[in-house]
Amino acid sequence: MSYQSIQHVLKTAHPGTEVTIKGWVRTKRESKNAVFIALNDGSTINTIQAVAETGQLPDDTLKLITTGACVTITGQLVESLGAGQSIELKISHVHVYGPADPDKYPLQPKRHSLEFLREIAHLRPRTNTFSAILRVRHALAFAVHKYFNDNGFYYLNTPIITASDAEGAGEMFRVTTLDAQKPPMTDDGRVDYSQDFFGRETNLTVSGQLEGELGALALGKIYTFGPTFRAENSNTTRHLAEFWMIEPEMAFFELEDNMSLAEDFVKTVIRYALQHCADDLAFLDNRLKEEEKTRKKEEQSEMSLLEKLQFVISNEFERLTYTEAVEILINSKPAKKGQFQYEVSWGVDLQSEHERYLVEKHFKKPVILTNYPRDIKAFYMKQDTESGAAPGPTVRAMDVLFPGIGEIIGGSQREDDLDKLTARMQEVGIEPDALWWYLDTRRFGSAPHAGFGLGFERLVLFVTGMGNIRDVIPFPRAPKQAEF
Ligand code: ATP
Ligand code: MN
Repeated sequence: MSYQSIQHVLKTAHPGTEVTIKGWVRTKRESKNAVFIALNDGSTINTIQAVAETGQLPDDTLKLITTGACVTITGQLVESLGAGQSIELKISHVHVYGPADPDKYPLQPKRHSLEFLREIAHLRPRTNTFSAILRVRHALAFAVHKYFNDNGFYYLNTPIITASDAEGAGEMFRVTTLDAQKPPMTDDGRVDYSQDFFGRETNLTVSGQLEGELGALALGKIYTFGPTFRAENSNTTRHLAEFWMIEPEMAFFELEDNMSLAEDFVKTVIRYALQHCADDLAFLDNRLKEEEKTRKKEEQSEMSLLEKLQFVISNEFERLTYTEAVEILINSKPAKKGQFQYEVSWGVDLQSEHERYLVEKHFKKPVILTNYPRDIKAFYMKQDTESGAAPGPTVRAMDVLFPGIGEIIGGSQREDDLDKLTARMQEVGIEPDALWWYLDTRRFGSAPHAGFGLGFERLVLFVTGMGNIRDVIPFPRAPKQAEF
């Protein structure tokens, strides 16, 4: 095709070359002698300025060139005399594909609030902020596949519809073709799911891990990267009802190996984004600096976005046990002054305020917490034989905690002993027969193995410096939000 992306033109073209570009008008400005059109096509954060002499373009064409209109422009690249660009396009021809009624087009060349843009999620990718986020998101997704491919992992697609609700009881979305008005009933007055599409109750998956383990215990090292669904009614800035999860699972890995992989993995993909998204990250860095200025001094972050990303890739994550962390938290200033909303004692699940205290105030770097109390973690985690200083039984769990985010990764070494695993399932009320296929991996050729789950949007949140997870996915799904 005979047109070029603006990214390509800005990178390669020389003055004197004839080019055709296609995109959406950001602004049109008319001076006494000329018309200036800033055009963006989404290939880069940068726009090209196209210039026509006054009177050169027919009036009815000129009228259609307004913010948001889609046009194709042909012209000659010339050195620009204006500030802010080195090159501009001297227009020889313009064609308007689609005009955008200036009275109705919701995006104006000014700063819109993120809340407003969420209400027009179908148009927000046309803004600088969102197009930058989406390009960074793409680069990170690509880097994820590249990392695993480079390191001998196989991409395994685990099911989206699942009959196992072992992990997320109560938080799942039901999948059914039964008539919602009058479903078939059993004699004892329950919905008869045996007549449903799959002949049983099914849900959208909350995690591909259990199936991922089956893959690892055959292929060695696998990863999943797919959508997961949680009907948790938590209206936080870190939870979505539909999000993308990356779940590597490795045969013969123990907890230490798992931690090292997690650390190397996140550092590598962040480094990739820094190398390949320099323009977009510079834009987002600047955006955050502007936003920080509106905050109170004590709420401002000490590092800029780019400094924070550099810091994370160049420092070792702090590794400590849950028990040690609880000790630190109990003796912390906010605990003594009663500033935590939730009290800390050994055995409680740490809240995001605690995780963020450890990361942002105490260690001032990412932290990996390990060996959590058995009772607050999933049944499949490997039981510790010795609990050391811990006052109760622990499991080989690990959570990676990030500044501004809290938990970004949750993982563990898995229990590979069939008897211990079934005993634990019975303790927590999961019928082992219901997961017979999962237990078969421990029955036949069991192996030590480990894995973790990284919420992709939490990673994108961190790398882009955005504050709300709904702003780093093109079409967010959250309670009462599924319009687009
Ligand atoms: P949290 O305590 O933050 O709710 P979790 O313990 O429920 O997290 P896991 O079940 O361990 O999380 O899931 C693994 C990873 O998936 C988390 O570390 C996080 O990055 C991500 N994650 C979990 N729930 C959500 C959600 N609702 N939206 C986006 N990402 C999520
Ligand atoms: Mn959760």
